[in-house]
Amino acid sequence: MQTYDYIVVGAGSAGAVVANRLSADARNRVLLLEAGPASHPWARIPIGFAKLINNPAANWLYSSEPEANTNGRKIPVPRGKMLGGSSSINGLAFVRGQAQDFDSWAQMGNQGWSYEDVLPFFKRMESYEGGDDAFRGREGPLRVTNPQPRDPLYAALIKAAGEVGISHNPDYNGARQDGIAMSQATIASGRRMSTARCYLDPIRKRKNLHIETGALTEALVLDGKRCVGVRYSVGATKHEARASREIVVSAGSINSPQLLELSGIGQPERLRNLGIEVRHALAGVGENLRDHYAPRTRWAVGAKGVTFNDRGRGLGLVGQALRYAISGQGLLGMVAAPIRAFVRSREGLDAPDVLLGWVPMLTEQGPKGPKLSRQSGVTCYAHPMRPESKGHIHVVSADPRRPPAINFNFLSSPIDAEITARAVRIARAVMTAPAMAHLRMTEIAPGASQTTDEEILDWVKQAAETTYHPVGTCKMGSDAMAVVDAQLRVHGIEGLRIADASIMPTLTSGNTNAPSIMIGEKAADMVLTHAAA
Ligand SMILES: Cc1cc2nc3c(=O)[nH]c(=O)nc-3n(C[C@H](O)[C@H](O)[C@H](O)COP(=O)(O)OP(=O)(O)OC[C@H]3O[C@@H](n4cnc5c(N)ncnc54)[C@H](O)[C@@H]3O)c2cc1C
Repeated sequence: MQTYDYIVVGAGSAGAVVANRLSADARNRVLLLEAGPASHPWARIPIGFAKLINNPAANWLYSSEPEANTNGRKIPVPRGKMLGGSSSINGLAFVRGQAQDFDSWAQMGNQGWSYEDVLPFFKRMESYEGGDDAFRGREGPLRVTNPQPRDPLYAALIKAAGEVGISHNPDYNGARQDGIAMSQATIASGRRMSTARCYLDPIRKRKNLHIETGALTEALVLDGKRCVGVRYSVGATKHEARASREIVVSAGSINSPQLLELSGIGQPERLRNLGIEVRHALAGVGENLRDHYAPRTRWAVGAKGVTFNDRGRGLGLVGQALRYAISGQGLLGMVAAPIRAFVRSREGLDAPDVLLGWVPMLTEQGPKGPKLSRQSGVTCYAHPMRPESKGHIHVVSADPRRPPAINFNFLSSPIDAEITARAVRIARAVMTAPAMAHLRMTEIAPGASQTTDEEILDWVKQAAETTYHPVGTCKMGSDAMAVVDAQLRVHGIEGLRIADASIMPTLTSGNTNAPSIMIGEKAADMVLTHAAA
C-alpha cells in the first residue's frame, strides 16, 4: 500500500488544478486518480465536442430519471471521463458568471467566496489577451481566446440584439456581464484547452506527482471520523492508498456525492436500505442538484451560405477542414455556441437572469451522435441562469459501477417556468428583429403559433435538454443541508475536502467550467495555507 501526502480523486476541471498546485512543491507527494483514460483523439480539437458527447470511451453517459416536466423523457447527462474530465469534452465556452453569484455565496455565510475574494483566482488561472487588467489574467495556465471571427450572421445578430435593447459587450467576463458578445473560449491555435492540456501536460515530469488513469475510486477509507485513504480498482485489481495529510474529492457533481454515499457518508436510512454501513450522517449529500434546463429554439434560414448546414456538408466540409488546417477556425475549430447574450427578462432586475446562445446550424441525432441537418438553419437556446428548482442524486446500490439515480425536478419552482417562457420570447424578439430580415428566418420550433406561456412550456417539456451544468450536490454552507464548510472540508470528517462543481450552493450565471477551475485553484490554496499554518 502506497502512502502520499495528498490524494486527489478525479482529474477533471477542478481536480487537475488541485493536483498541479499541490505538487508544485516537490516535497508534497501527490496521487491523482482518474477513472477514465489519459486522452482521446477527439479531445484535441473543438469539433470533438460532437464526437464525444455520446462516446463511452470518454464519457460516463449518465441520464436522468423520467419526470413530469420532461414529459417522461430521460435527459442525457454527459460527463467527461478522462484526464481533464468534462473540460475535455465540453462546449469550450468560457464564462465566469456574475460578481453577484459569488457575493451571494458569501452572504450565505461562506467566508472567502465573495467576488472580491474569488477574482484573484479567476485571474491566476487564465491567460487572456483582451479586456481590462483589473479583471483579466495574463499569465495563467489556461489559455482563453476569442476564436471565432465575426461573420455576416454574427454581425446581424449583434445588430438585431441592439434593436431590441441588448447592447454589445466585448467582455462579459469583465466589469459587467450584460449584453451580447462573441463567446470567449478555451481554445488556442485551434486546439482544445482542457485542464489536462493546460494543467497536467506541462508537469508530467514531476516525480512527486503520480497520475493513475483507469483507476476507479470505489470508497474512501475512514478511521473513525477521519478520512485516511481510498480504495480503488484498476481493471480487476483492487488497490488501497493512504494520505498522511488530506484527501480531495474532485469527482464532479454526479460522482462526488456517489463516492460519499458508497463510503457511508450521507442520509442514514437511504444508506442502510442499500446495505451500506453508515459511517457519518450528512443529510445534504446528493441534494440541492441544479442544472440549466434549456430549450433550443430552431430557425430555418432562407438566405444561402450563411450557416454550417450550407457550408459544412459535402464539398463544404472539405473547405472547412482546409480552413481549420490553415487558421484553426470554422466548423472544426468552433466553440459550441459562438455568440451569446446575457439578458434581463424584465425591468428592475439588478443583473441579467437569462442566457441566450446561438449555434450557426441545425443538428439532428444520427446513429453516432449529433449530425448536421440537410435544412439550413440556426439554433438558439434560451434559459434562466439561476434556476431555483432543485433535484437530487443518490446511489441505488452499493456497487460503485452502478450509475446513481438523477432526479432534476426541472421547472418545479414556478419562477423557473416563468423565466423560461420569457427567455423563449426574448430569443424570438432577436430573431425577428429588422436586422435579421435579409436572412429570411422562419421559426421551426416551438413555432410562431405557440404564443401563450402554456404553449411554450408544453413545448419546453417535450424538447428541452440541459446545457450540461449539474452543480450543488455537496453544497458549501453551514446549514443542516450543507456538505462542506467554506474551507471545502466535509462537515464532521477530518482530512477530507471536496473541490468541484458539486460544492456550488447555487448555479453561477452561465457555464460552469470556469467557476469549477476557480474552485480547484481556491481549494489548492486553502489546502496549502492549512499545511503551512
Ligand atoms: C457535454 C458538456 C458540455 C459542456 N459545455 C460547457 C461549456 O461550453 N462551457 C462551460 O463552462 N462548461 C461546460 N460544461 C460544464 C463544465 O465542463 C463542467 O461544469 C466542469 O467541467 C465540471 O468540473 P468538475 O471538476 O466538477 O468535474 P469534471 O470535470 O467532470 O471532473 C470529474 C472527474 O472525476 C473523474 N471521476 C469521477 N468519479 C471518479 C471515481 N470514482 N474515481 C476516479 N475518478 C473519477 C471523472 O472521470 C472526471 O475526470 C459542459 C459539460 C459537458 C459534459
